[in-house]
Amino acid sequence: MGVDIGGSSIRAGLIPVESGPPVGWKVRSTPQSGDEDEVAAALAETVQSTLEAGRADRREAGAVRDTVVLGVGIGATGLVDGERGVLVENSRLGWTQMPLSDAVVSRTGLPCTLENDANAAALGEWWRGAGRGSKCLLCLTLGTGVGGGLVWAGQPFRGARGLACEMGHICIDPGGRQCGCGARGCLEAYVSGDAIAARAAEVIGPVGGGFGGTEGEEAGGGPIVLTARRVVRRARRGDPACKSLVQETGEVLGLGLASLISALNPDRVVVAGRVARAGDLLLAPSREVVRQRVMEPMRRGLEIVTGHLGNQAGSVGAAGAFLLAERQGEGIGALPEGPRVA
Ligand SMILES: [Zn+2]
Repeated sequence: MGVDIGGSSIRAGLIPVESGPPVGWKVRSTPQSGDEDEVAAALAETVQSTLEAGRADRREAGAVRDTVVLGVGIGATGLVDGERGVLVENSRLGWTQMPLSDAVVSRTGLPCTLENDANAAALGEWWRGAGRGSKCLLCLTLGTGVGGGLVWAGQPFRGARGLACEMGHICIDPGGRQCGCGARGCLEAYVSGDAIAARAAEVIGPVGGGFGGTEGEEAGGGPIVLTARRVVRRARRGDPACKSLVQETGEVLGLGLASLISALNPDRVVVAGRVARAGDLLLAPSREVVRQRVMEPMRRGLEIVTGHLGNQAGSVGAAGAFLLAERQGEGIGALPEGPRVA
């Protein structure tokens, strides 16, 4: 089972070991209190209901044998100590030192691993999504914030203390926009969903409603605050102000990617998360900046693409991380690898 604990939702599903989409898919809201018992109870309840729903789904699909659940992989937003199974810190949610693995093990009896959510998403895209067949995959998740992950030779790269790949906090402009981490000019302060909405508010402001729009949300006529989703939707429709905002976002993303590509030499970059729904409107300017700034041999064979798994990447990858840990315990050391995607 893969469980993805994000800032607003917990998503979970049973991930078939060999192939196939998640079954028993469950989504519930993340408790916003910093209360450890409430979080533990929500997590355990999600695991239990996913088990039941997944087994029912499999029976309905004609599975003859009972579904055996090997264990639970959690991907959680924040700084994670995988060895102890503890979420060390998520300042936005006010969570500190939460023993998430123990919460699952003690309440369900299932073995459990814990991974950072963006590392999990990277492993998910490598295992079952847009990163399949990649030797060195860099994955950036553009959601509320910006997460990063690196999968090298089929293994997630964790760094010395499991905290690697906080790629949202590489510096784009030392005197630039204020970032939630306390520093200025981080990549996240420009390209996250929240940052795009904040930049839209500054550059464009609320947009007049009126009754001429084609979006349902504009039917009421009042002024509309531009969220990242609305910016992307308007850009796709050809709105010039929103198009140029997405273009600039793509260029800043390209600056960040250029540094990361020069440091890491990936053969594929997957841009995931809901901001990536902008597709080539976002990625074409990124690719152009990378072309200008990265030395040619490092760009050879490099692809920059959007994710394939949508909001299931974290759960799929969290389950993958569990399976990987279990196989390493058995001396196998790698996940079963699917065919390369075009
Ligand atoms: Zn930062």
